[in-house]
Amino acid sequence: MKPSSAIVGAGLQMMPNSMKVLRRIGIEDRVRGTSFQPYSHLNRVWDTGEILRELPMPESLFGAPYLCMHRGDLHEALLAGVPAASVHLQKKLAGIDERGSQVRLSFEDGTSAHADLLIGADGVHSIVRDIIVGPDEPIHKLYGYDAWNVPLTSTEARV
Ligand SMILES: Cc1cc2nc3c(=O)[nH]c(=O)nc-3n(C[C@H](O)[C@H](O)[C@H](O)COP(=O)(O)OP(=O)(O)OC[C@H]3O[C@@H](n4cnc5c(N)ncnc54)[C@H](O)[C@@H]3O)c2cc1C
Repeated sequence: MKPSSAIVGAGLQMMPNSMKVLRRIGIEDRVRGTSFQPYSHLNRVWDTGEILRELPMPESLFGAPYLCMHRGDLHEALLAGVPAASVHLQKKLAGIDERGSQVRLSFEDGTSAHADLLIGADGVHSIVRDIIVGPDEPIHKLYGYDAWNVPLTSTEARV
């Protein structure tokens, strides 16, 4: 299947420390080309625009830029850094089995693959972590707060 970076998520802030990682893997220029470099990290009251907190983020201070971008653009940049044939979409990991110096990965669709090394980057509900260290409980309790992520055009966001 051809990798696709259809709309996935919304806006994303890339902090300078993360930009240093993207620099190291060779996609900094590409990411800069599709992002916006704000002067500061800014928190406003949602309905009045009142500034609650402002943290200037000059590139000269951190040695890398603070950028805002669309997640889809980040995905495109990351995909551009690896051979297309090495990305397999729609594969849900169901189990892993270490055999000598290899690991066998089995997927929900009944297929499997072998690898010398497995990196579990499967998020907060990681099945890789569950298999290796066992099921775990969240460190933080739920306090009942909600967070809303609302994509706005730059015109709509002008307050
Ligand atoms: C609303 C929101 C806004 C955020 N904004 C920012 C921001 O602006 N800047 C920032 O730096 N961070 C932001 N974060 C945090 C950031 O998204 C996470 O820290 C980051 O995505 C974690 O990366 P990850 O690779 O560990 O996991 P994830 O990004 O969750 O990736 C895990 C991947 O593994 C896949 N996966 C899961 N299980 C399986 C399986 N069994 N088989 C195959 N694949 C599987 C998932 O589909 C997913 O693609 C935000 C988070 C949220 C929820």
